Amino acid sequence: MKMNTRAQSRLLLSTLLLSLLMNKACAFVVQSKIPRPSSLGSTKTNDAEISINPVVASVKVSKTVEIFSLVKQMETDGEKVTSLCVGEPDFLPPKAVLDAATAAILRGDTKYTAVTGTADLRNAIADDLKRRKGLEYNPQTEIVVGNGAKQSVYQGILATCGPGDAAIIPAPYWPSYPEMVALVGAEPIIVETTRESGYLMTPKALRKALEANPHVKLIFLCSPGNPTGGVYRKDDLLALAKVLDDYPNVAVLADEIYERLVYEGDCPSFASIDRMFSRTMTVNGFSKAYAMTGLRLGYVAAPQHLAKAITTIQSQLTSCAGSISQAAGVAALTQVSDDELLENVKIMKQKRDFVLGELEKIPGVSVSVPPNGAFYILPDVSGYYDGDDTELCLQLLKSKKLALVPGSSFGAPGTIRISYATSMEELKIAIEKLADFLGEQS
Ligand code: PMP
Repeated sequence: MKMNTRAQSRLLLSTLLLSLLMNKACAFVVQSKIPRPSSLGSTKTNDAEISINPVVASVKVSKTVEIFSLVKQMETDGEKVTSLCVGEPDFLPPKAVLDAATAAILRGDTKYTAVTGTADLRNAIADDLKRRKGLEYNPQTEIVVGNGAKQSVYQGILATCGPGDAAIIPAPYWPSYPEMVALVGAEPIIVETTRESGYLMTPKALRKALEANPHVKLIFLCSPGNPTGGVYRKDDLLALAKVLDDYPNVAVLADEIYERLVYEGDCPSFASIDRMFSRTMTVNGFSKAYAMTGLRLGYVAAPQHLAKAITTIQSQLTSCAGSISQAAGVAALTQVSDDELLENVKIMKQKRDFVLGELEKIPGVSVSVPPNGAFYILPDVSGYYDGDDTELCLQLLKSKKLALVPGSSFGAPGTIRISYATSMEELKIAIEKLADFLGEQS
């Protein structure tokens, strides 16, 4: 039977919804003709049976990406979806960035760069880290520019962990951390945090996890945190460092991609804490502060031996980040003023306060710790759907066309993650939809 495009995409959409509902891993393909495996185990066709590497088969597809793909499919079908599921600022990159990218294209700046990035960009990164964070990295040997912080995180993990090793991940966490750890064959050790601690890992919890898991090689510190917005202060970091003094073989991956989006106080780098420089990989990028998500530009700054290992990995995986994006990155760091970025922070704070205020009015929804950075809120909605946040998000998407991500994919069951980096108009619509939907449940 021949189906028209609309009927085909409707069929695909129901398949996707069903797949999400059954909580199954699902790769998104455009042609419904391609046979879909029920899991990533193996694909049987008439011609061949190819089994998938069991390591990959055990890795979950990002729920944010799954929901985002669903939203894109619904939009292709002509449906209007309100989407607060992706961590992407709604504003354009600064003009200086757009101009630099355009100029780079027109100059024909389209060749491979050095594996670790152009000298201009590495110098600009080193200067920026020194000026704002007091960190001294050698731009020749200690900075590796990659295609987004995501790649930098993965390469940092691969450089330090392998089969038999373990990595400590404080929960709630960015969902890619445990899956990336599993991809390198290591074991993710989840350390729960509490609302009382502002969702920050306490020194006591860290010590307990290290004592219980002798194979730990790496710990993750994400500040400000996705999805909690929690920010580690200097005292918090000093206390964690004191524990780590007893574990000299444990590295730290400090994911500071949201460090320019902090509402009160500062956000010190873990590498700036006494004695911690030599074990820390500082990851940062251009996606959040400069809204350069699609330009795919991030970096890791780390002591030479770690940076060298990361460079070796990158040289075999992608050679280098895009030359146009790197030119844009130089402009971001050298031509965009702190004041211009602070304007965005002010706007984000207004949005955060609006969403917090509106959530407070919805019965059965609570936000115990107001986020102090990034652009996410993680309200507790465990009173609905018996705490099944995935079901709640799916029904919300189906009935109100509002896309949020279930907190369970961040290690925070019973919550939903709202990304408020969108326009005020969209936020108002979203909150109305959420309030209506939850009101209908009672
Ligand atoms: N780390 C965290 C905590 C993130 O939330 C993200 C993006 N959602 C990244 C890293 C990756 O950012 P990018 O690859 O776009 O630079």
